[in-house]
Amino acid sequence: MSIISRFAPSPTGHLHLGHAYSAWMVFRRANIFRLRLEDIDATRCRPEYAASIEEDLRWLGLDWEGEIRVQSAHFPEYASSLSQLQQRGLLYTCFCSRADISRAITAPHGAEALYPGTCRHLPETERAKKIASGAPYALRLNTHTASAQAGRLKFFEEGSGWITAEPERLGDVVLARKDTPTSYHLCVVHDDALQNITHIIRGEDLREATHIHVLLQNLLGLPTPVYAHHRLLTGPDGKRLAKRDRAATLREMRAAGTTAETILQRFQSA
Ligand code: GLU
Repeated sequence: MSIISRFAPSPTGHLHLGHAYSAWMVFRRANIFRLRLEDIDATRCRPEYAASIEEDLRWLGLDWEGEIRVQSAHFPEYASSLSQLQQRGLLYTCFCSRADISRAITAPHGAEALYPGTCRHLPETERAKKIASGAPYALRLNTHTASAQAGRLKFFEEGSGWITAEPERLGDVVLARKDTPTSYHLCVVHDDALQNITHIIRGEDLREATHIHVLLQNLLGLPTPVYAHHRLLTGPDGKRLAKRDRAATLREMRAAGTTAETILQRFQSA
């Protein structure tokens, strides 16, 4: 079987070593390696970061096939997926601010905070009034109802085998944000299908998200690829490398004289 996979960075900064490791993990497995820029967040993504990611991947020799999929150029496509879900009555308007949500959340510190469902229970008259008043809103998935409609779903995780999807672990996720007419979860399932991705190879920080992606794939009639979540590259302190670790950006390493071979060797021995 030919493995078609993708690296899908968000151009919110220069490529750091951790991200490059993820790209390499995809590249080494894939027969066809695709690139996608997940740049729907206009407040954080910048064209210069997109250009710099492309330059760094080429420098490392991680060449992709075909056109780069640039999400910000395809908002109408995501809107049509969204409306399929809306027509099935699976979305609701959510007017909560971040502060409202954190006030309502009673989860213990450290636990992943789920949306407490405040607006799911809003009386329809109040909802209509808020919309008419022009209050900004997000669209959330009614995950419980959606999951009940979809029935029991499974996905194959390499190294673990078949896993039963538990979408409710992520609660009522946002599928269209107040400031952006779509969201990561919606775009990712849409584009993976569009790019004929057979295997999703990505960092383990996105493992949980798979549970909701599998549900969305089912609701939208899209195939579920095979999943493989790799461990994240850590720094000498044992902590995960992040964009804020400026020293770990590829362009800075390159400027300091590090070669692409040295970096690839480090990945091989990681
Ligand atoms: N855009 C996501 C990120 O940069 C990756 C999405 C994915 O691989 O599913 O973390």
